[in-house]
Amino acid sequence: MYYGMIKKSDVADGPGVRVSLFVSGCRHHCEGCFNAETWDFKYGDVYTAEIEEEILRAMEPSYISGFTFLGGEPMEPENRPFVFSLAKKLREKFPEKTIWLYSGYTYETDILEWAKTDEIVKSLLPLLDVIVDGEFHIREKNLSLKFRGSENQRLIDVQKSLAEGKTILCDENNLR
Ligand code: SF4
Repeated sequence: MYYGMIKKSDVADGPGVRVSLFVSGCRHHCEGCFNAETWDFKYGDVYTAEIEEEILRAMEPSYISGFTFLGGEPMEPENRPFVFSLAKKLREKFPEKTIWLYSGYTYETDILEWAKTDEIVKSLLPLLDVIVDGEFHIREKNLSLKFRGSENQRLIDVQKSLAEGKTILCDENNLR
């Protein structure tokens, strides 16, 4: 996997101060994408074990409230093993911090369907707190939305959704 950027004090991609990883590679090609250079699967630098260690170290300060995967597309098949590996370590080392993942894919029709046959997706989902799903639709762009760009995108509470077997959206007044 390649990645375009790591932010160690990100206040835009989820609540609080977070560490975030912009993975490379995205097949959605949304009109008006804010990060079109990351469509290329070889954009940026190679994601290595040293980079993973650097990310885990950046998570240690108590003011860091969580981690966010974005891109690019973390759920592209090429990126899934690396995303899963890091999410697993984050969950083990920082159980009190939250993990968010932005995906242009749709939770029910794409991600849950893959989870039926793809062991990585199936194992990844219980590690996540929030999935921000859906492509960016420029005609539905709304700058007042919290942590997303267009009206079709949703903040999905993954833990509640898995427990109840239906899609539960986050309480936007109580995000963590
Ligand atoms: S899914 Fe995200 S990164 Fe991919 S094209 Fe759409 S806005 Fe850009």
